Amino acid sequence: MSQGAVVILGAGHAGGSVAAFLRQYGHQGPITLVGDEPIAPYQRPPLSKAWLKGEADAEGLALKPLAFYAANGIDFRGGSTAVALDPRARAVKLSDGASLSYDALILATGARAISLPVEGGDLDGVLSLRTAADAEALKARLGPGKTLVVVGGGYIGLEVAASGRALGAEVVVIEREDRILARVACKTLSDFFQAYHVKQGVRLELEASVVGFGGDGGKVRAVRLGDGREIPCDVVVVGVGARPNDELAAKAGLECADGVVVDLDARSVSDPNVFAIGDVARRPLPIYQRLFRLESVPNALEQAKQAAAAIVGRPRPPAECPWQWSDQYDLKLQIAGYALDNDNVVVRGDPQAGRFAVFYLKGDVVRSVAAVNSPPEFMMGKQLVLTGAPVDKIKLSDATVSMKAVSA
Ligand SMILES: Cc1cc2nc3c(=O)[nH]c(=O)nc-3n(C[C@H](O)[C@H](O)[C@H](O)COP(=O)(O)OP(=O)(O)OC[C@H]3O[C@@H](n4cnc5c(N)ncnc54)[C@H](O)[C@@H]3O)c2cc1C
Repeated sequence: MSQGAVVILGAGHAGGSVAAFLRQYGHQGPITLVGDEPIAPYQRPPLSKAWLKGEADAEGLALKPLAFYAANGIDFRGGSTAVALDPRARAVKLSDGASLSYDALILATGARAISLPVEGGDLDGVLSLRTAADAEALKARLGPGKTLVVVGGGYIGLEVAASGRALGAEVVVIEREDRILARVACKTLSDFFQAYHVKQGVRLELEASVVGFGGDGGKVRAVRLGDGREIPCDVVVVGVGARPNDELAAKAGLECADGVVVDLDARSVSDPNVFAIGDVARRPLPIYQRLFRLESVPNALEQAKQAAAAIVGRPRPPAECPWQWSDQYDLKLQIAGYALDNDNVVVRGDPQAGRFAVFYLKGDVVRSVAAVNSPPEFMMGKQLVLTGAPVDKIKLSDATVSMKAVSA
């Protein structure tokens, strides 16, 4: 029976989940969950989607009702920041001066939005979107007659653009590359989402760089581009990626490489008493034989299970296929695996009809699938990525052949 003291730093999706899994798996010792945000763990995905559009309330965001933590003997300390870690003494110092001793420490400090180091970046109305407070600030500034500029055509930026349109705002997306989703999707997918956003009234500025923001009375009023143009606006969302909050770990001498480096149990490679899970962790994915830092809810949950199992002495949970999703307008994009080392691509279904899937293969083995409004393709594709079973590419490309029948 595991009885030791567990301290969890970061009360987000990973931190809140690992606390619950520890109890579910039978951990009987004390659990302390430290989070610098003032509220109990909540889900971030709706912040750019349903919640921003006013289709979900604050209660619906919560991972668990607040009462869950006390009822399960989890000492949740909201509004409290961990400021120092001493792995030799197995102790953590908090901003209020308190010191916590642990037998096992779980770093679940997530990531933070990258800001743009340009003139005017600190003007009122230049926002990022990471927390419920950020979403609240953004929502208050959107609506008919407002112009929203989104910097960065990645998933979060595009979801904000779609939500902005739903709220009646004019929306301009500025992207440095020559297509949106350039870092994460193939051209077929980029072209599809590009056309869809334009059809919904979004203005796209591609191959455009932001060199500054202009303001009036301390409030943002324009975005300045490298080619000299100015785009008038009322609010800006900078969605250019996130950095892991791994400074505590790095300062304490734990191996970090854009994230805390962990093994298949989510255990730090430098200290057997320390775990790192979720956006802050750099973890192995045996399917691809390399380390990844993943920013997704399924990853936070998978690693929360791994760490909880290792702490209570249960067998390691079965490996999962990494996946994530993005909702924009009436489109549900579901992605499984990573398009790495692939040498051919199969498109199944019809992009014109808004229902298709792109399979990325190495030989006849599916390495990744991106499915738009196509749950069977996603579900079966995810399974194929995990098992590595070969497929018949002719059958795979024919949407009239069931996904169950595509195996070679
Ligand atoms: C707007 C938005 C939309 C998203 N949409 C999707 C989606 O559609 N699908 C998907 O799969 N994923 C999505 N994600 C990503 C997903 O939400 C994250 O991968 C997930 O929240 C990671 O969980 P985490 O616990 O690792 O980090 P977080 O949820 O960020 O939690 C980390 C917590 O630790 C706190 N913290 C940091 N440092 C300290 C410290 N020193 N002391 C105390 N507390 C600290 C942070 O403030 C934060 O509360 C989205 C993210 C955002 C921001």
